[in-house]
Amino acid sequence: MPYRAWFQCISGCREKYELNEVIYQCKRCGDLLEVKHDMDELRKHPPEYWKRLFDERYRRTEWPYGSSVWGKKELVCPNVDNKNVVSLYEGGSNLFWAERLGREIGLEDLWIKQCGNSHTGSFKDLGMTVLVSMVKQMIAEGKSIPAVACASTGDTSAALAAYCAAAGIPAIVFLPKDKVSLAQLIQPIANGALTLSLDTDFDGCMKLVREICSKNNIYLANSMNSLRVEGQKTVSIEIIQQFDWEVPDVIVIPGGNLGNTAALGKGFLMMKELGIVNKLPRIVCAQAAKANPLYLSYLNNFEEFKPVKAQKTLANAIQIGDPVSYKKAIRVLEIFHGIVEQATEDELANASGQADRTGLFSCPHTGVALAALMKLIQKKEILPHEKVVVISTAHGLKFPEFKIRYHESRLEEVTSRFANLPVEVPPRYDVVMEAIDKRLEKVPV
Ligand SMILES: *Cc1c(COP(=O)(O)O)cnc(C)c1O
Ligand SMILES: [Zn+2]
Repeated sequence: MPYRAWFQCISGCREKYELNEVIYQCKRCGDLLEVKHDMDELRKHPPEYWKRLFDERYRRTEWPYGSSVWGKKELVCPNVDNKNVVSLYEGGSNLFWAERLGREIGLEDLWIKQCGNSHTGSFKDLGMTVLVSMVKQMIAEGKSIPAVACASTGDTSAALAAYCAAAGIPAIVFLPKDKVSLAQLIQPIANGALTLSLDTDFDGCMKLVREICSKNNIYLANSMNSLRVEGQKTVSIEIIQQFDWEVPDVIVIPGGNLGNTAALGKGFLMMKELGIVNKLPRIVCAQAAKANPLYLSYLNNFEEFKPVKAQKTLANAIQIGDPVSYKKAIRVLEIFHGIVEQATEDELANASGQADRTGLFSCPHTGVALAALMKLIQKKEILPHEKVVVISTAHGLKFPEFKIRYHESRLEEVTSRFANLPVEVPPRYDVVMEAIDKRLEKVPV
């Protein structure tokens, strides 16, 4: 491929590094890196060329382009040889037309991007395929990388473990003890990763994994590693593709470490530069009120950013007080006329419960995004005719404890407005009919 990409420092120093170098932060100034592409080379093709190419490859079989991440390889990571790509057929997730939910909350055109319908059940697959492929490429080039490691709130470790297992590369995951769901915990265990359960929170795990990686040549898979952002940014291209290359008005995304918010914006900016789109959506970042440093900064026009101590929240994957990608996310929100909104435990759990009543099975983070959306509609910051896409970040089946306890009305700080408990009945016609009649009476015909 004639295309090229490299790491570049996001601060004024603009130092460049090769993608096959083991590096996460600028050696000169310590700031974050981002992946930059040779845009002149990409711009040699008109937008029609890219749209046709991506459509031709979408969900087909030619390796590795059927993956919706690698189907956009030229814009993502041209530096990896196809034979070193570690792909589990990422992306291509359903764009759910939430017609009934939209009507209930006052929107004419609401869509949910089901990123959790994916190999390990969350959007983390989109980024991990790029990172692990780059590791496989480096190992093939003769670099010594004994293992790949990450700190995780549950989903990153699941993705890392699966991709490493598929590639035969050792994985080490650092999890905060008792702060991830059982389903999230069992994934890296099943995939054979060394699973370390630490008596601290995510921010504590993060600190330790950084030190261990830097001193031992172990490759760090957290989202300060900007290779993941390159894969995650394809969700923006995919959404547009699913709308026949039309841009929606608003995209709502839950944010914790804020890598995904940064990725969403990066994808749109790249498409704009290539002429694939000619407008940008507004981006809404939704945070849990228990872990809301970006929301607090937004209230202050982003004039300053202060980490907080994240409190326990049902939305455990975004229980992060010191997000690594806050600078990149703020940059994106400033360009995209962004909004940050927060959701309480009660709001997120009930938003999720309400969405499920209309056919979804939503995770608590999607609940945060939906609750934020509902609040912004009430405040008239989002208008009824606007076309809105909510990024659903994980599959609800990863969070059975959350669902069960919601319906049993056993969640702290939550009044379960959509609880639906099983009705215990003896196996007798009359009693069963009584239960059915009682339920159907409630439904207006
Ligand atoms: C990782 C994750 C998020 C947050 O993404 P960031 O890039 O950390 O902001 C949200 N929801 C789920 C389910 C996740 O796994
Ligand atoms: Zn620098």
